[in-house]
Amino acid sequence: MNEQTVSRKTFDEVMVPCFSPAPFVPVRGEGSRVWDTEGRDYIDFACGIAVTSLGHAHPELLRVLHEQGGKLWHVGNGYTNEPVLRLARKLEALSFAERAFFANSGAEANEAALKLARRVAFERHGAEKFEIVSFTQSFHGRTFFTVSVGGQPKYSEGFGPVPAGIVHLPYNDIEAAKRAIGAQTCAVIVEPVQGEGGVIPADPAFLRALRAACDANNALLIFDEVQTGVGRTGTFYAYEDTGVTPDILTTAKALGNGFPIGAMITTEALAAYFKVGAHGTTYGGNPLAAAIADKVVELISDPAVLAGVRARGEAIRARLAKLNDRFDVFKDVRGKGLLIGAELSARFKGRAKDFNAAAAKRGVMMLIAGADVLRFAPSLIIPEADISEGFKRIEQAFEDVIGAR
Ligand SMILES: *Cc1c(COP(=O)(O)O)cnc(C)c1O
Repeated sequence: MNEQTVSRKTFDEVMVPCFSPAPFVPVRGEGSRVWDTEGRDYIDFACGIAVTSLGHAHPELLRVLHEQGGKLWHVGNGYTNEPVLRLARKLEALSFAERAFFANSGAEANEAALKLARRVAFERHGAEKFEIVSFTQSFHGRTFFTVSVGGQPKYSEGFGPVPAGIVHLPYNDIEAAKRAIGAQTCAVIVEPVQGEGGVIPADPAFLRALRAACDANNALLIFDEVQTGVGRTGTFYAYEDTGVTPDILTTAKALGNGFPIGAMITTEALAAYFKVGAHGTTYGGNPLAAAIADKVVELISDPAVLAGVRARGEAIRARLAKLNDRFDVFKDVRGKGLLIGAELSARFKGRAKDFNAAAAKRGVMMLIAGADVLRFAPSLIIPEADISEGFKRIEQAFEDVIGAR
């Protein structure tokens, strides 16, 4: 065997085993189709995890990648660069924010948000105000601070003492939030739709209650829009549709369409607490990532694209309802825009993985969110023909798992 020959089996020989990738190896993508090493094609309903929102090999993104790639990749934060300034201006024009900090991932964006909140509380109110409120089942990343703030203890246990001053409350529980948010609270961090936790939308009244409790207690409200942001739910940021404006928002995943970039955006007044030297990054805000993200933001903020997200979301819900009519598998279909979760009924409890594996065998890439929820996060511009073909294959996959009905 040629020593350059690699396959899925190579993964087990050379990689840290913290992932368990699918049996096939993708090599090429175009739009919402992906091909593997055997030349088999897949309909992509996953987009990584809600990342490649404009599909694969988008011609305009390729053009920007080549153009900026030939100009300047990296100068470090001892210099600024034109693409990052344009990107910041664009994000601020599209949101409540007035200042931006760029990083390379969602976790890093949240790390910056949490550190900023702690710093603001420390300087405005003193060392005693440091408590961070988060919610059970939430997901905020895998750095040690963000994984500790996240509401899935299985991800933070077994790594030694977790950072102090973090409390977890039940999601969508207004009374619990009112009781727990107090003078000691420095910030509340919440996903407008819990993604990893099972595709659970926040009740708008819950978000309003968080806003009120934060205001009453001089605490900051952080929206983690790493998964919901950049068009995924049908508005550019999900908060726009909730009637609640956060103090700090984090965004990543779709922002670079697969080129790593994340951002924390906030107001001018709060940003001022990150003085020179207070926080930093080597790669964050580099011109290559920023140029690509700038084009992504331009394309996705188009009202026609956002309207298309809502229409495609409805189309997929209709397909899921038809599947359910035939197979009686879902007890709930929920989410927003093109972030959709279908929770399996009691009969199929714990079997989301089986459906996902069967779909892969039939040529569909999709996601799960916990053991009981199938998750769909296709490209925001997926053609109707690919939705249709994808659901034909999913129907076959359901027959494989359940039997013909
Ligand atoms: C994916 C995700 C993160 C972590 O992003 P990374 O880029 O993997 O660090 C944080 N918050 C939410 C809501 C996410 O979905």
